[in-house]
Amino acid sequence: MEYTLVRTKRKTLALQIMPDGEVVVRAPLRLSKQQIDRMVAEKEAWIFAHQQKVLQQKQAKEQFSLADGRFPLMGQLFPVEYMEEGKAHYADGVFYLCKGTEEQLREQAQQLYRTIAREELSRRVAFYAQKMGVIPTALRINGAKGRWGSCSGKNSLNFSWRLMLADEHSINYVVVHELCHILHHDHSAAFWKEVERFFPDWKECRKQLGKVSRSDYFPE
Ligand SMILES: [Zn+2]
Repeated sequence: MEYTLVRTKRKTLALQIMPDGEVVVRAPLRLSKQQIDRMVAEKEAWIFAHQQKVLQQKQAKEQFSLADGRFPLMGQLFPVEYMEEGKAHYADGVFYLCKGTEEQLREQAQQLYRTIAREELSRRVAFYAQKMGVIPTALRINGAKGRWGSCSGKNSLNFSWRLMLADEHSINYVVVHELCHILHHDHSAAFWKEVERFFPDWKECRKQLGKVSRSDYFPE
């Protein structure tokens, strides 16, 4: 079995399957190559099973930008159509992309999500800000993977375009969550009380968002 060996000061052997299926073995400095080979061989079934799983996940994620893919948007899946020429755009539930390499398609799709995110979130932020009587100083769209949104000390709001992969209710919850930070720059009881006025089911929203980030459609 092929693997990448990393010698460390650790006391035990550790196996890791990387997102591309590569096997990384972290081994103590004193362990001989034969000993490591033997221990890795003993774990062969486990390694194989995990590699399969990781590769399947990778494939599912790549489908996000493949020619026959459908793109998730606000809780639904929409078809993608490929054009010979023109500018990539989104209209009436269809993502129109220009034919190109996988890298180019990925880039086009991301740009569309950013554009949609800017429009959708501006509208939703304005709606809830008025209801709540708060005024954000700016709205920015980023590509964060681990964070749906944030609110700076100066009350400027940031949202990840990936939020567009979630359902509308969850999107609105994130908008309200960040707007509530204008009133409370923390996650205190007072903060959650404010969130609860609009989203009594905020725990459920958080669960839904967790599912989105773990879904096959969550792009790299
Ligand atoms: Zn927060």
